[in-house]
Amino acid sequence: MLSSRTVVAVASSSSFLPLSHPAAASTSASASAAAASYPFLNRRLAFSKCHTSRDHSIIPKPQRSRVMEGFKTRAAAAAPQLEDADALIDSVETFIFDCDGVIWKGDKLIDGVPETLDMLRSRGKRLVFVTNNSTKSRKQYGKKFETLGLNVNEEEIFASSFAAAAYLKSIDFPKDKKVYVIGEEGILKELDIAGIQYLGGPEDGDKKIELKPGYFLEHDKDVGAVVVGFDRYFNYYKVQYGTLCIRENPGCLFIATNRDAVTHLTDAQEWAGGGSMVGAVLGSTKQEPLVVGKPSTFMMDYLAKEFGITKSQICMVGDRLDTDILFGQNGGCKTLLVLSGVTSLSTLQSPTNSIQPDFYTNKLSDFLSLKAAAV
Ligand SMILES: [Mg+2]
Repeated sequence: MLSSRTVVAVASSSSFLPLSHPAAASTSASASAAAASYPFLNRRLAFSKCHTSRDHSIIPKPQRSRVMEGFKTRAAAAAPQLEDADALIDSVETFIFDCDGVIWKGDKLIDGVPETLDMLRSRGKRLVFVTNNSTKSRKQYGKKFETLGLNVNEEEIFASSFAAAAYLKSIDFPKDKKVYVIGEEGILKELDIAGIQYLGGPEDGDKKIELKPGYFLEHDKDVGAVVVGFDRYFNYYKVQYGTLCIRENPGCLFIATNRDAVTHLTDAQEWAGGGSMVGAVLGSTKQEPLVVGKPSTFMMDYLAKEFGITKSQICMVGDRLDTDILFGQNGGCKTLLVLSGVTSLSTLQSPTNSIQPDFYTNKLSDFLSLKAAAV
């Protein structure tokens, strides 16, 4: 269900602040005070708004009405199965692919993917790969593509670890401020590349809180942002440290790489996703995060600007409705759902599902067979 709550950001003529952040005050007086304390917050984000997977309230009005009208009509008429792949391919110049469930499953390449990507490249299409997984950096993802025999350039890969660093750069995060990281190595590597100071991450994985009378946990007053991503070594120390930074450092941002409920660490079951770590910090701070991964439009806006792409000339291909397809729709792109990942046909066609892509197909390599059939 859609929530009407605006959660992460509000843009004014001169500021771009997390709405629920203490600095993002609802009154102009407190907003001015916060901006005076933390001038970097006053620099407007060059990209459009970020929001959670359930939030549509800050989608620009014309787009929102188009999306919401789309939901109404599509909910009544379920998405059609893709029949003419050539028509779809010809109608766009860029394909954005989610990775897990579209390109690979775990560490196994999905059949027909290399040939399909080759065909799209031969037809002059730009290919971009976007993932909410923040545990790896762009470079580390590049290695994974290489290991699987796929010829993908590092610059074509957009992981939410990169998005977190790119967001901080986009707001000119001050050189004298630090980021506290609840997450894995990918975030640290991207912050390193961006030249942003940080602490936390994997090295806090073994830290414990031993409560005794008068025990007091010190925290760094120069932390200006807490970035939370998927973290297998999540613990109480990290929650307390991140909470202290957000609650006690004026203007400290709370940034989430994603809010995915579950993830597929193994093929045997679903595992608690990045949303569980974000939820813990949300619970203790009572603040909503600024989300930089899907379905927030931050990455879409970033790569549209980076590559000079018109969003209507993009087709988003993914296996999840509430992240990938919503991400594409929030960005004003065409959308294609593949059934090779987490979403089944019955889920797509369930009366309770309100997110309908433009088309669905079984797997990416259907582009080849549907193309052959159409010739
Ligand atoms: Mg996926």
